[in-house]
Amino acid sequence: MANISEAARETPIIHHTEVLVVGSGPGGLAAAIASARAGAQTTLLERYGCFGGNLTQVGVEGFAWYRHDKTVDSEGIGVEFEQRAKSMGAATPEPQSNSHAIDGEAFKYVADLLVQEAGITPMLHRTMVAPIVEGGVIKGVIVESKAGREAILAKRVIDATGDADIAHRSGAIVHKTPVEEMMAASVMFSMNGVDKKRFIEDVKADPHTYSDWCGPDWAMETSGKEDKLFSPYLKKPFEKAIKSGLIPQNLNTITGTWGAITDQGDLTYLNLIHLTGLDATNPDHLTKGEMEGRRQAMLAIEALKQFNPGCENAKLRNFGMTLGVRDTRKIDAVYNMTAHDVREQGKFEDSIGIFPEFIDGYGILILPTTGRYFQLPYRSMLPKGVRHLLVTGRSAGGDRDSHAAVRNMMCCAVNGQGAGVAAAISVQTGVDVADVDIKLVQKKLLEQGARIH
Ligand SMILES: Cc1cc2nc3c(=O)[nH]c(=O)nc-3n(C[C@H](O)[C@H](O)[C@H](O)COP(=O)(O)OP(=O)(O)OC[C@H]3O[C@@H](n4cnc5c(N)ncnc54)[C@H](O)[C@@H]3O)c2cc1C
Repeated sequence: MANISEAARETPIIHHTEVLVVGSGPGGLAAAIASARAGAQTTLLERYGCFGGNLTQVGVEGFAWYRHDKTVDSEGIGVEFEQRAKSMGAATPEPQSNSHAIDGEAFKYVADLLVQEAGITPMLHRTMVAPIVEGGVIKGVIVESKAGREAILAKRVIDATGDADIAHRSGAIVHKTPVEEMMAASVMFSMNGVDKKRFIEDVKADPHTYSDWCGPDWAMETSGKEDKLFSPYLKKPFEKAIKSGLIPQNLNTITGTWGAITDQGDLTYLNLIHLTGLDATNPDHLTKGEMEGRRQAMLAIEALKQFNPGCENAKLRNFGMTLGVRDTRKIDAVYNMTAHDVREQGKFEDSIGIFPEFIDGYGILILPTTGRYFQLPYRSMLPKGVRHLLVTGRSAGGDRDSHAAVRNMMCCAVNGQGAGVAAAISVQTGVDVADVDIKLVQKKLLEQGARIH
């Protein structure tokens, strides 16, 4: 590939902050709130026009769909997201669990309020394009926007981009699952005009279970106790659509879950499109995924209209603002979480929070129906080789099975809260994030309502 040389340039420094959080998904939003509440001057930078990451930008609404009667759940800012959304009418009862599906559209406003109330400096519509690293220490980031290229300087940086963009570009070691084994990406969509009564009658007449997640070409590993539990799954309309010739046989991957149905007839968080072989750090793959995903979603909608009771007069309400991505870079952290940790109730001296034994991905589904849970080690957010940088959310360090647990939004919020508090204390005590006094971090987390053991 040929290259061009870019001219050297002066870049204006537009902002100084103590803690800069880049990316505002469940990980970044929780990190910024925790940091600000711990007393650090905090800035939250986001490339799109709303905070919330996959929750608001993709429409991933199932924030705690794993929660059952005996689940020992995380506590702290993640639970606050769900409760605040519920209190503001931005949540609907979730059909398979003791939880609420968060309304991805309304949560944009909930997140605005959370950011304002915490006293965070909000920065939307700026994309981080390069870290500023001097002598192995991160000093801030370069952003690009309609205003051009600008610099933001920070004492500590939290990479919550979901893709470990900052860690990667700072030279920290990151890794990716081979593209053919990566979790599928999804174009998420919602419909409106659904006859709720007819839809629910049909669900009740022939309820699906998690065992229906197995298809002709794929199997699921469960612990056995999941198999007979109800799952809000849609399969029959697509089988009929294939038989009728509406959907081609090779698209037997169109199947999956619905998230919530409102009294107004909104059927939301339709997780039906699964696009494999895409590396979401490659914009050409992203382009292909967006367009192919929308094509498949329109076929799915037609199939639902023709073959799913209650959907006859329904239509597309919206696509997610962007393709939903589950799996890209993860850092090689000081401690990388393992399958054993998430399957066998891992415990850590440097725990910053707990998450129930919920594993969902790479063909595994284990639900936390028995009260088992694991702890999250602070060290899994410490990249190697770059000081003053933490990486939170789904790109924290770990193997594939652990990713299938840690990537879940509530868990990202738990890690995010830990990262935010640690970054604030690291500024206040004048030490690197790698040397922060973990006991002080744990004390502050408990004060903030988190559960760490
Ligand atoms: C289709 C789909 C269904 C899923 N279903 C569920 C589910 O039911 N329950 C569940 O718990 N989890 C689910 N997940 C997983 C979950 O949504 C993610 O793992 C989680 O949102 C990750 O949180 P995060 O904070 O790490 O990153 P994200 O939510 O991805 O947020 C990253 C943020 O960083 C911003 N950003 C990225 N790069 C830059 C940059 N260079 N500059 C500025 N900003 C940047 C992005 O715009 C985004 O706002 C699903 C995921 C997908 C894709």
